[in-house]
Amino acid sequence: MTETRIIDGTRVADALRERIRVHVEAGKAAGHAPPGLAVVLVGADPASQVYVRSKHKRTQECGMASFEHILPAETGEDALLALINDLNRDPAVHGILVQLPLPRHIDSGRIIEAIDPAKDVDGFHPVNAGRLMTGGPALIPCTPLGCLYLLKSVHPRLDGLRAIVVGRSNIVGKPMAQLLLRESATVTMAHSRTRDLAGECRRADIIVAAAGQPELVRGDWIGEGATVIDVGINRLTPPDGGKSRLIGDVAFAEAMGVAGAITPVPGGVGPMTIAMLMRNTLEACCRQTGRSFPDDL
Ligand code: NDP
Repeated sequence: MTETRIIDGTRVADALRERIRVHVEAGKAAGHAPPGLAVVLVGADPASQVYVRSKHKRTQECGMASFEHILPAETGEDALLALINDLNRDPAVHGILVQLPLPRHIDSGRIIEAIDPAKDVDGFHPVNAGRLMTGGPALIPCTPLGCLYLLKSVHPRLDGLRAIVVGRSNIVGKPMAQLLLRESATVTMAHSRTRDLAGECRRADIIVAAAGQPELVRGDWIGEGATVIDVGINRLTPPDGGKSRLIGDVAFAEAMGVAGAITPVPGGVGPMTIAMLMRNTLEACCRQTGRSFPDDL
């Protein structure tokens, strides 16, 4: 039986944000303006409101400037595009994040493409996606970048390791696979049409589960000693209407004693996502102001 290490994403994220704060404060002490992050929320979706509030809090804790733009649900696409254009031109704003999902009458693709790629701290702009694929200086989507950080805390080098990514979304699965490829892992991308997903997973040294399916990856899908990164966030409410709880895409209890290391849900990938947003904002600021990006981030 393998002793399974639980990868503490909260601790890794706290330490990373603290290093970011130190760099930001040093920059301010040297006379530079703080990195600025603008977050745009359209409508009053409760989950999005929670995310936006916590982004605002973390941005301020890191010593950065936070600009919140909370717009009514009926805001039109043209008004949102006008705001994005203003933020693109504002020198105090180095990063722009539009909280998704947007109301249905707004074309998210058009909004994302309107963001200056240099300020696209979510890394969703096609220019950044293309640069990630071709090896250019991309801003990389926060969740897969956070997964890579956690993976590297277990495997400082990923060369030649067999990795499987379950899920092929533009925000998690595809950029995750690109990052693993960039690290010279041998990458399999799985999705809802994959045949024998269990067998594909069993062959892997690294499993990244990002399917949005509660406990899809069972204990007997995991090779002895494999590293498992669970991106899934699934809220389960008991049939009696009791308190809901979050579970991942991996059957955590079954994975214990089989996996070599695993991220818990909550407390694994989740906290890393906002830490990476802070990192990307600092990186975007460094690039826009001609400063070098610290190499300990
Ligand atoms: P999407 O719904 O956009 O994509 C899900 C992907 O999983 C699709 O590619 C789909 O395949 C694949 N999939 C679905 N069911 C199966 C299955 N049974 N077997 C194999 N593949 C399957 O989800 P996201 O990528 O946006 O998110 C994935 C999960 O990660 C969600 O739980 C989400 O909440 C969580 N998440 C967590 C974040 C964090 O900060 N921790 C941030 C972002 C997301 P196909 O393409 O064939 O339909």
